Amino acid sequence: MNIIQEFDTIAAIATPVGTGGVGVIRISGSKSFEIIDKIYSKHNLEEGRISHGKIVDGEVVIDEVLILPFKNPKSYTGEDVIEIHCHGGINVVRNILELVLKNGARMAERGEFTKRAFLNKKLDLSQAEAVADLIHAKTRDFAKHSAKNLSGVLGKKIKEIRTDIFNVLSKIIAGIDFPEDVKEPEYDYLIEEFEKVIDKINKILSCANSSNIMRQGIKIAIVGRPNVGKSSLFNTLLNVERAIVTDIAGTTRDVIKETLDWDVAITLIDTAGIRDNEEIDKVEEIGIEYSKQSADEADLVLFLYDAAKGMTADDKVIFDLIKDKNHIVIANKADLTQNREEDVFYLSTVTKEGMDVLKDKIKQTAYNFSVEDTEFITNNRQQDCLEKCRESMIQSLNAAKIGELQDLISIDLKSALLYLDEITGEVITDEILNNIFDHFCIGK
Ligand code: GDP
Repeated sequence: MNIIQEFDTIAAIATPVGTGGVGVIRISGSKSFEIIDKIYSKHNLEEGRISHGKIVDGEVVIDEVLILPFKNPKSYTGEDVIEIHCHGGINVVRNILELVLKNGARMAERGEFTKRAFLNKKLDLSQAEAVADLIHAKTRDFAKHSAKNLSGVLGKKIKEIRTDIFNVLSKIIAGIDFPEDVKEPEYDYLIEEFEKVIDKINKILSCANSSNIMRQGIKIAIVGRPNVGKSSLFNTLLNVERAIVTDIAGTTRDVIKETLDWDVAITLIDTAGIRDNEEIDKVEEIGIEYSKQSADEADLVLFLYDAAKGMTADDKVIFDLIKDKNHIVIANKADLTQNREEDVFYLSTVTKEGMDVLKDKIKQTAYNFSVEDTEFITNNRQQDCLEKCRESMIQSLNAAKIGELQDLISIDLKSALLYLDEITGEVITDEILNNIFDHFCIGK
């Protein structure tokens, strides 16, 4: 993967499908200039100079456009790139794309432009993944963090750790290969260096939880016995009639999820009522099992009971299931009772009493999660590589502590390096690569 590769010429619509002010068709590859020459009213386009003219199909004018020509390697993909900025009508962009394809380009696959940018070394893999994150960011905050990775923050840190390991490994190898001239490094030195590397990895991984929350949002499960108002609360929070609200116990049989952007992404999970009842049918049982699971995977549980009935023994059974989780206890249907006990949080999805306070409590919890530590945004793949790298470093450290042969230590150090290289994409399989770029949209 060290050679700059030669590919065919690809094209795609780079803007979303629909009507808009401007539509962009992007062409990349060695034939880009040749293709535009055949369908554009002007010739001899100059690199980096915007040109104004017409896209033509023989005698027929298709649209009046701006052309942005880029010559390799100074382009997004590292290849010759032509961007056609036309009017943003769905059929205009399609007509132009069709013309471009007819004149020698191939339709691009998902993420193929960014994949070429990676293969042509314009971006490392962590930057390419940040492009996808930025496009798919559910909140503005996450978009900002992804933009930081796009500028290479994570990649730089990984390279710094790589250099640390590489330097120690070089000393070990020099000692092994030239025992007469080079002394093998002291074990104390090895221990110190390995601990430093492990600390740096820990620092990145300590942000994993908050970066996962930023990426996926915090998961909030609404749990409680049937009929306490879970679906009503879900709908009120969403402001839509998404879950079915009824007064027949046990109607929410599936788990329903919706995402909100309250500065951090919030995924609301509405679960079937949890209850321990001999008579419940199979479907309901599955629903209850789901509820337990979603409460398990939730970052925050909203536990509801009926304020008019008070906390019953049945409610307590469910409460016991979730009490060790981050939770808010809510006495719903407050409009049905005059009782106002201290330390009880009263809510009514009907009169909206307590709704604003609840929203603030949820936001505060979400905020606490997301500001934990977010210097580095990582995804599951990167976290997995980092964990494996840390594992190899811990083995190296333990080996150094017992004065193991340095030849053996070097094996673990080499595998630690490989895991880091997987993050930046220096070493990567086609399967992983395709999996990453399959999550992109066409035209990116
Ligand atoms: P779930 O089974 O826990 O999801 O409960 P639902 O949301 O389906 O609500 C059950 C019944 O309680 C419905 O008839 C709702 O209209 C009613 N309900 C929900 N919240 C309130 C509330 O705050 N006050 C009153 N009076 N009724 C409510």
